[in-house]
Amino acid sequence: MARNKVQFQKGMSEAQFDGLYGSEALCHAALVQWRWPEGFECPDCESHAHCIVKRGTRVLYQCNACRKQTSVTAGTIFASSKLPLRLWFKAMYLLTQSKKGVSSIELGRRLGVTQTTAWTLKHKLSQVMIERNATKRLKGGVQLDDAYIGGVRSGKSGRGAAGKTPFVAAVSITSDGKPDRIVLRRVARFSKIAIAGFARAALEAGAHAVSDGFPSFPAITEAGCIHTPIKTGSGPKAAKNPRFKWVNTILGNIKAAMVGTYRAVRAKHVPRYLAEFEYRFNRRYRLEAMIGRLAYVSLRTAPMPYRLLKLADVYA
Ligand SMILES: [Zn+2]
Repeated sequence: MARNKVQFQKGMSEAQFDGLYGSEALCHAALVQWRWPEGFECPDCESHAHCIVKRGTRVLYQCNACRKQTSVTAGTIFASSKLPLRLWFKAMYLLTQSKKGVSSIELGRRLGVTQTTAWTLKHKLSQVMIERNATKRLKGGVQLDDAYIGGVRSGKSGRGAAGKTPFVAAVSITSDGKPDRIVLRRVARFSKIAIAGFARAALEAGAHAVSDGFPSFPAITEAGCIHTPIKTGSGPKAAKNPRFKWVNTILGNIKAAMVGTYRAVRAKHVPRYLAEFEYRFNRRYRLEAMIGRLAYVSLRTAPMPYRLLKLADVYA
């Protein structure tokens, strides 16, 4: 594959990261700025006047009007975590700046925490990504394909592959033929109902998708999309068809990332792994801004000890 802008961009170095977010005080100040860019606002009565109360290492904001005490992380994804903020920031750094993602084992090792702690952290952050991803739909020209993931190997290995999790990959294409954004969604199966559900959630009405001749893809027209099936035959020739070049490249990258990073992905966790990949890909030109943007959205995502267990939307 030709070298391109993405491979050349640097992202944020560890030294830059440490300079920006290397201490509790720096992380706390950054969160305050992102949560209350216009200054503190009481979550109960919306007053601005407040005083700061310190409880050990905790910094509480006390509203002068209603006396409510709150912290910058209360009511957010960061709430009720005993981890130092700098570990949350380091996790955001590792999850967003690495092209292939980071397994919870590797994350635990890098952060100096147990794998269970790292897993929880990673899955809370990927839940934020799932919710964020769900707010954007693809428009214009789109390449569409079906694929499987999970088990020991991932990638396209024949429809109906046992023990693997089916998902749909879509990439929108710019007017000069480059990939723009991607959407990766788990489906229960490749039925017409599932494909129509996928299209309603992930494509804008009027989007024009090309796909191979698989019989369920025409169901995207139920979501107001335009569909052009292209007969490809099968085998390596089909994968080289230029009409599917980008969706095939992306599926290849997902496969490589999975093989390099994870030994196995359990079916119920597939949506989160796909969400991380989608989130990073769609922000690949803004690597340095990614930590701030992820933290900003995390501060606006409710705590989710139980919602964590909830699966992302699956279209049956
Ligand atoms: Zn108040």
